[in-house]
Amino acid sequence: MKTEKIALVTGANKGIGFEITRQLASSGFQVFLTARNRQRAEEACSKLQKDGLKVEFLQLDVADENSIAQLAKELASRIDHLDVLVNNAGTLLDAPNDSILQVDPKVIRLTLETNTFGPLRLTQKLVPLLEKSSSGKVINVSSGGGQLSDMADWAPAYSLSKTALNAVTGMLAAALKDKNICVNSICPGWVRTDMGGANASRSVEQGADTVTWLATEAPSDLTGKFLRDRTVIPW
Ligand code: NAP
Repeated sequence: MKTEKIALVTGANKGIGFEITRQLASSGFQVFLTARNRQRAEEACSKLQKDGLKVEFLQLDVADENSIAQLAKELASRIDHLDVLVNNAGTLLDAPNDSILQVDPKVIRLTLETNTFGPLRLTQKLVPLLEKSSSGKVINVSSGGGQLSDMADWAPAYSLSKTALNAVTGMLAAALKDKNICVNSICPGWVRTDMGGANASRSVEQGADTVTWLATEAPSDLTGKFLRDRTVIPW
């Protein structure tokens, strides 16, 4: 069974997560497409299954601890290892002109639940399966908005959550190095999705590419880094 490559993608019913799922399944992975909305996720799943891809839906709200615990239990009963975890689900709750000078801490807390605590909690729960892979990988879909080296007063709750996610990436990479699990953050660039809007400069195929590369081709010792376009960028 361990010869089968298995991946799990969060927030995969649409946008970049759906495309990551398509690319990984096309590369030969069995992929668990997870999402919180069952109907939309089942539609997304059947689209990929019609193309002969090995994709299966599991319900997961990354902001809900019970949902994460339930998913981890279900997975442990069905698979004996997990090769790739893609923490893609994300939310942008800031209004277009929000500033750090007036952002409501409640919005920051809500955003952190999905964008930071979700990936952290899910990774913690799935380490037992990831460490049974011959080369486990955790890939956190972050954002240039969280880059400390280029910080601006844009979408403060979202940007803070992605800076914190990058810190989580660095710490997990250090903690999991001895278990042969690589952990990296990526920025997909500005992508045409519901979040990125129609005027964004990149397609979902371009946005998903670095994730697929990390899952399939990247050097096996690449860990604890932030990447865009298959290239390491400053935190
Ligand atoms: P999107 O089209 O809005 O998709 C976001 C996905 O996350 C949806 O499937 C959504 O599910 C899911 N999600 C949100 N909250 C969730 C939760 N609590 N539990 C489970 N799923 C949840 O956005 P996208 O552009 O594809 O974004 C994907 C990732 O890329 C995000 O982490 C985002 O921050 C990052 N990113 C995007 C851009 C860009 O330009 N698009 C740039 C930099 C980084 P529902 O349908 O249920 O809401």
